[in-house]
Amino acid sequence: MDERALELSYRKRADRAVQFCLILFCIFRVLVELYSGGDSSNMVVILTFAVVVIAGLLLLQKINFKSMSFIIPFFFYAAYISGSLIIDSFRYIYDVYFLILIIAAAYFNVKSYVTFVVVSQLLNLFLSLFVLGNHESSVAISPGDALLHFTLLLTASAMLFVVLYYTVKKSNEVDNAFATFGALMRVTPSALILVDKDSRIKYLSKSVSRALEIKDPKSFEGRSFLELFEERSVRELFKDIVQKRSFFVDYQKITVSERIKTFDVFADKMSDDAADGMFFMLNDVTEIVRLKELAEQDSLMDSLIQIPNRRALDRQILQEWNRALRDKVNLSFLMIDVDSFKNYNDTHGHRQGDELLKAAGRVFNKSLKRSTDFIARFGGEEFAVLLYATNSHQADVIAERIRRAVEEEIVLTSGGEETRFTVSIGVATLIPHVGVEYGYIIETADKALYNAKQNGRNRVWIAELPNESEMT
Ligand code: GH3
Ligand code: MG
Ligand code: MG
Repeated sequence: MDERALELSYRKRADRAVQFCLILFCIFRVLVELYSGGDSSNMVVILTFAVVVIAGLLLLQKINFKSMSFIIPFFFYAAYISGSLIIDSFRYIYDVYFLILIIAAAYFNVKSYVTFVVVSQLLNLFLSLFVLGNHESSVAISPGDALLHFTLLLTASAMLFVVLYYTVKKSNEVDNAFATFGALMRVTPSALILVDKDSRIKYLSKSVSRALEIKDPKSFEGRSFLELFEERSVRELFKDIVQKRSFFVDYQKITVSERIKTFDVFADKMSDDAADGMFFMLNDVTEIVRLKELAEQDSLMDSLIQIPNRRALDRQILQEWNRALRDKVNLSFLMIDVDSFKNYNDTHGHRQGDELLKAAGRVFNKSLKRSTDFIARFGGEEFAVLLYATNSHQADVIAERIRRAVEEEIVLTSGGEETRFTVSIGVATLIPHVGVEYGYIIETADKALYNAKQNGRNRVWIAELPNESEMT
């Protein structure tokens, strides 16, 4: 509800309260007149006035232009004074005036209230001193009494003002807070759903229609919240949350119009009272998560050769090391280095050197068969291969397969010249055990590679590993 709607709803309530007051008063006034055996012609005037005043009020309320709340109390005041003049009886003038004050306060607006009190009290004073004081009927009052009445009424109107100011202001503040909250809920980009304790929808924000691709979210109000979701698993999950009134915050994949979206879901109870139900806030983070995954993949890939990079290797080796430690299986590590690559670069140029590295990457990838085999560029013209659950003999076979595949590879230069290259490979195999860091297997393979180079290049060298007691 926005402020304008709120203002209108206040006005409606005030209108109804005033109608009620007025009708009650008219009935009361007629009854009193009957009881006190009043003049029957007075009765006709009073009744006619009552009808005119009520009709006038309804008409004024219907027109409902801006300063209507200001006019209505004056209208009553004028109607009462003129009615009293006609029947020549100012009985109840102060009581009626007080009633009109309440009506003025019902349409509460500080400025118009004060204006009304000032103007009408001046008139009251005038009436009291110059009309009522000289009046010949039984209600004639002395000027002293009139002043007393006047002062009492002024005090009462001030008291009414203060009391209403604070109570009405307070309730207005609460209403305004709700109105602001309501406006926020409408415009929030998060899909906000309030559900009662039986998981029926109490409120849906506008954004639900975009997030969950629902044409008319309002039509879901009052229906089961779970109907918003297609998948059984999602329904079960949310049903459970509502039933247990449990706090939930997590990413959740939800199928929306046959497309899997990722939502950041936040759910909690509204208060400790179960009757208040729960709220669910869903943020569509599909695109963010997709980009994040892409960026992550990107940061783990070597941009030149399009195979995992050193960072990816570090991650993988730590994971596989721990897995092998648990499973007590062999882990093999191959360190591959292109032979005389500097020479190749010098002869064919750096760009052609890059082509060779790309070709090498392709050959290595092709030579590795198992899904757990992992190849990465270690840096420069060095590559690393991680082989899970692979013993020294099997690792030797694979290294040899790679070495020979490289030997057979032809790299064409831009001029169409056929070039070849070779690699040396150092192999280390061990079963990880507590107290040894994964860096150990890399160092060992590196030493084996050094030996391969020293012993003529284009060869595989298996590291001689000391036994376990020496390693720890
Ligand atoms: P060895 O047989 O002992 O390994 O000799 P080598 O020439 O291969 O070894 P060295 O480490 O002396 O040379 C490596 C060269 O690799 C030096 C560097 O210019 C080159 N290099 C490193 N990264 C790249 C790259 O991304 N592209 C190209 N084209 N060359 C690179
Ligand atoms: Mg090198
Ligand atoms: Mg080299």
